[in-house]
Amino acid sequence: MNEQTKAIREQADRSSYREHSVPLYLTSSFIFDSAEQGRAIFAEEEAGNVYSRYSNPNTTELINKVCAMEGAEAGLAFSSGMAAVFASFAALLKNGDHIVACRAVFGSTHQLFTRLFPRWGITTTYVDAAEPETWEKAIQPNTRMIFLETPSNPGLELVDLEWLGGFKKKYPNIILNVDNCFATPYLQKPIQYGFDLVSHSATKYMDGQGRVLGGVVVGRQELIDELMFFIRHTGPALSPFNAWVISKSLETFGLRMDRHCSNALQVAEFLEQHADVEQVRYPFLPSHPQYDLAKRQMKAGGGIVTFVVKGGFERAKRFLDALNVILITSNLGDSRSIATHPASTTHSKLSETERLQLGIQPGSIRISVGLEDVADIIGDIEQALARS
Ligand SMILES: *Cc1c(COP(=O)(O)O)cnc(C)c1O
Repeated sequence: MNEQTKAIREQADRSSYREHSVPLYLTSSFIFDSAEQGRAIFAEEEAGNVYSRYSNPNTTELINKVCAMEGAEAGLAFSSGMAAVFASFAALLKNGDHIVACRAVFGSTHQLFTRLFPRWGITTTYVDAAEPETWEKAIQPNTRMIFLETPSNPGLELVDLEWLGGFKKKYPNIILNVDNCFATPYLQKPIQYGFDLVSHSATKYMDGQGRVLGGVVVGRQELIDELMFFIRHTGPALSPFNAWVISKSLETFGLRMDRHCSNALQVAEFLEQHADVEQVRYPFLPSHPQYDLAKRQMKAGGGIVTFVVKGGFERAKRFLDALNVILITSNLGDSRSIATHPASTTHSKLSETERLQLGIQPGSIRISVGLEDVADIIGDIEQALARS
């Protein structure tokens, strides 16, 4: 079956009520038919739900869908994307281990690497996505994991997944871990290149309507087993309600991603020919420095467009204030179009030099292109550029 068909048809077992749509399993624990069954399930001789901190029919359904889409053996669901990303490190790393990571990582992931993990004796070396020769140089005898995001936020730089997957032969003990939130499994599937773990903020495109937080990690069974031990005893479980919402959303996932991508490409093409725009970044624009790689690795360019408006920091803020349709918020991957000014919000804690290393200029604006009629999105950008 095609993966989109699976995302539509994968469903928790039907109950004795013969419902069509999956019900919500709002239950913290599950009943055993007998004391013997309780013993057998605890001894892992029999499969079955015990307690919703470990598993629940709604979260299992969501995990099965994401595994089908990513081509993964196993997975787990989490209360947020950061809980998922954090667990993918904390469950597998120990004091003395070293991470190699691309520089442009999500803000909270950067805080883990620079503020939290050093306290636990876990160190990180940043490398630049676009300079492949620096990656191998950064590997140390204690390097246990390589972590990356592609496309990066908000600079939309790419890492060649096939090339990096090749590291597995030379460094079999290093875990390859990717946050695939921006591209989603609809556009790229890192596991096919040998990646061990793929994490997601399901808050973004998977829910896709800005309602609930959620996270998922999928990958090799033996690693997921270690993550299972970690979440059983630390408790970052996804609520069944949020799992139900996200799982329902995945029924329209392919349809939504197609529209996000086609709208975003048209927005990028419009911006590129506009006299008030200095630079546009979008993976499927031929002007993107890694356009060939984008075409090879991604099915479409994604829903995010980043551009630099002429007039710098103040003009960028005036542009945001002049928007009527596009909303100002720091979220992304929503059915509603969103504009963000990274220099004054998501990346304001960084120094100017650090921002420039991530491709963030004072006039950079990130648009998460939504599902509205594209003429309304472009019309809003056009009038806001004219009025700012
Ligand atoms: C939003 C995001 C996260 C964190 O997800 P939450 O669900 O907000 O915790 C992690 N990585 C990327 C790339 C994101 O965009």
